Amino acid sequence: MEKMISGKTRLLALIGSPVGHSGSPQMYNYSFKKLGIDYVYVAFDVKEDKVKDALDAMRTFNMRGCNVTMPDKIAAAENVDELSPAARIIGAVNTIVNDEGVLKGYITDGEGFVNNLKDNGVDIKGKKMTICGGGGAATAIQVQCALDGIKEISIFNKNDAFFARTEETAEKIRKEVPSCVVNVFDIDDQAKLNEEIKDSDIFVNATIVGMKPLDDQSVVKDPSIFSKDQIVCDVVYNPVETKLIQEAKAQGCKTIGGKGMLLWQGVSAFKLYTGCDMPVDEVKEKFF
Ligand code: NAD
Repeated sequence: MEKMISGKTRLLALIGSPVGHSGSPQMYNYSFKKLGIDYVYVAFDVKEDKVKDALDAMRTFNMRGCNVTMPDKIAAAENVDELSPAARIIGAVNTIVNDEGVLKGYITDGEGFVNNLKDNGVDIKGKKMTICGGGGAATAIQVQCALDGIKEISIFNKNDAFFARTEETAEKIRKEVPSCVVNVFDIDDQAKLNEEIKDSDIFVNATIVGMKPLDDQSVVKDPSIFSKDQIVCDVVYNPVETKLIQEAKAQGCKTIGGKGMLLWQGVSAFKLYTGCDMPVDEVKEKFF
């Protein structure tokens, strides 16, 4: 390290459990060094029942902030002092900024999704989106897209533990963003799914389908329903090209995988912590 840690270095961290596999420390520390700014980023394994202690410690050590990953996102939202509009609607945070002892929670996953689409030349304003999923990633996308001016969202989820949450999210969006039309359907109704996809500009998979061990599956059983002018996105980033993305590409659609969303949610958090722009091109090339 050319520049050693000093007495003024500000500390940032990832909290969650597990965190050992995370690429965030490398990505952030590379960016700090590149920009010559005095921060360091580490990872702390913090179980859900210790989140409050961890946030108290953030104040004690005057840490600049932290990213929050599973399973700590909801407990973190319950223990910060303020919430961004999206974090308040969702009830979860992935980024906390400490401004002189006041902890403000944000959720940048949805922003990451929207900015990744922008980076790929797609503006969501006034569009219709069909999205599968009602979990963490899906909720963040649905709320942020509504806040950013999407016209209509049709959500499909399995009739599992997430279905009630999906209906709650839809209700919250209707209340907070009345201009956005939100519909909720059962994903097992493939005929309805096909009908809604045909009528949409953007289709998104925000379920775990496509990720290992479900990597031989896609939520869309008949990819021939996609047309060339449609944009097909997946939040799954491992594998980089899911079955859905491969099949949509074969239909001539513009396809957008999950890796960019991961990058852009980090870009948003970086700006909140440091006020600086992450060196996106270099980070993309080195880490994505
Ligand atoms: P989650 O556990 O909160 O939600 C899981 C969702 O998958 C639920 O809607 C559930 O109903 C659905 N599901 C589960 N099994 C299904 C099946 N057999 N058929 C249809 N639907 C099914 O998970 P999450 O945190 O929202 O993560 C979902 C995916 O998004 C994961 O692959 C995760 O790695 C990815 N993710 C990506 C980013 C990114 O930045 N690209 C960010 C967060 C999550």
